[in-house]
Amino acid sequence: MAMKLVLIGPPGSGKGTQASRLRERFGIPHLSSGDILRAQVAEGTEFGKKIKQYMDRGEIGPAELITEVILDHLGRTCPDGFILDGFPRTLYQAEKLSESHAINATILIDVPEKEIISRISGRLSCRKCNSIYHSTNKPPRQENVCDACGGPLFHRQDDNEETILNRMRVYNKETRPVVDFYRKAGQLHAVNGARDADSIFADIITLL
Ligand code: AMP
Repeated sequence: MAMKLVLIGPPGSGKGTQASRLRERFGIPHLSSGDILRAQVAEGTEFGKKIKQYMDRGEIGPAELITEVILDHLGRTCPDGFILDGFPRTLYQAEKLSESHAINATILIDVPEKEIISRISGRLSCRKCNSIYHSTNKPPRQENVCDACGGPLFHRQDDNEETILNRMRVYNKETRPVVDFYRKAGQLHAVNGARDADSIFADIITLL
């Protein structure tokens, strides 16, 4: 299925989890801007060095440069269909994306702020395949080992309470206008993200 989807939601709303389920179900590539940026930081590229400080603080960073890197990645790896997670995060990014791609649907996964901190502070991510776990809600079968690929799990450096609060502030200020942008374009579908991953996924499938 060739489809261009955007997933939007506050940090910890389950965008990554839902995007990887959608990828499994429909075979559409999943592109997480955070994963792409973390890979650059881990490789120690010039770009990675430039953005690390922003990521550690939960900030947006150099908007034009990041937009260029993500759109370039999109054009090279999945020009015909994708599930975007974490991008666009600002109005500028949404406008740039719309210049090169016609989006079929945008899904807003809404979660109340009070739920976010407990979700994120228990989050574990796989270093190899980026699968996501939670220490109590979705623990891996073997401690610190990814069920899917056997890779090592890690706790993201920016998944601490202070940075999470900043990421929520940035979301409210910078990303809420993106939600309005897609709402005005008649492309926004909202799902209640304050439930288990299976129910949210079922809602998304119904929408699509
Ligand atoms: P995420 O994995 O989506 O939570 O992103 C982690 C961090 O990467 C964010 O707090 C930002 O610092 C940075 N980041 C991810 N996506 C973007 C983007 N589209 N624009 C700017 N910064 C981003």
